[in-house]
Amino acid sequence: MHSNLWIEETFEDYLGLRFKVERILFSGKSEFQTVDIVETKGHGKMLLNDGLVMVTERDEFAYHDMITHLPLFTHPCPKNVLVIGGGDGGTAREVIRHTGIEKCTMVEIDAMVVDACKQYIPQTSCALNNKKVNLVIGDGVKFVKETSEKFDVIIVDSTDPIGPAQPLFGEEFYQDVYNCLSDDGIVVSQGESSWYAIDIQRSLLTVLNRVFPKCFLYNFSNLTYPGGLWCFTFASKKHHPINDFNEQRVKDSGLTFSYYNTRLHTAAFALPSFVISELSDL
Ligand code: SAM
Repeated sequence: MHSNLWIEETFEDYLGLRFKVERILFSGKSEFQTVDIVETKGHGKMLLNDGLVMVTERDEFAYHDMITHLPLFTHPCPKNVLVIGGGDGGTAREVIRHTGIEKCTMVEIDAMVVDACKQYIPQTSCALNNKKVNLVIGDGVKFVKETSEKFDVIIVDSTDPIGPAQPLFGEEFYQDVYNCLSDDGIVVSQGESSWYAIDIQRSLLTVLNRVFPKCFLYNFSNLTYPGGLWCFTFASKKHHPINDFNEQRVKDSGLTFSYYNTRLHTAAFALPSFVISELSDL
């Protein structure tokens, strides 16, 4: 039996990304968003929140490698990591591959995302029961305001700035992030697309520049997000992502990656000219 079902992510009123669906595995509506997991024909299992593609089995490694290994190999000795969002589990999975990590706290607002991914996408959620992962179901905004813990690296693996993710792009949140980072702490955040959301990138970088002495945008290729070219922001109290990057730590780790490598670590900060030009005043 062949399915004729397609799922479409739309952007504004002029772009649609269509994926052929073999089977719907899960559909729910939580207090925060709709949550769907489908088996696609070409991209493996896919998680969608509010109809937007979050993760596919085929390309999740690119996103999770670049949001995780770049800060963890820039910081000289990360031990305590905080992930905000990231309910599919892929970021936490990559964090705990670093043997020096003692604890990875993951604060995800929506239990439905976590439970559905645990059941249907073990490829990303496989580390969520690991004893180094401290899973908190709650609001990341509240968590960073109230915690007394200090983190070496904070990874904001969030949805777009709508609904509960909106404050994750604001100055008050980043002031709280600053306060709960160690003296040489680094924060990396989901930084949207330069093709379709350079206004959000501008606003996020403006906020980060007000709070952190070192701020950068870096890019990577994401197969299943609109525009293909996607970004993360890197902000730090002390470390420069290229000048303070010691390649030897990557070699010594013995880890292998499907996307990240030492040359890409540096190259990711080389931005297309239109991005440099549009953000040149920041
Ligand atoms: N890779 C994805 C992307 O950019 O499309 C993001 C993955 S992850 C599924 C994003 C998660 O952030 C969602 O599960 C959402 O529930 C969570 N989230 C949104 N706002 C949050 C908040 N204020 N605190 C904690 N988690 C939040």
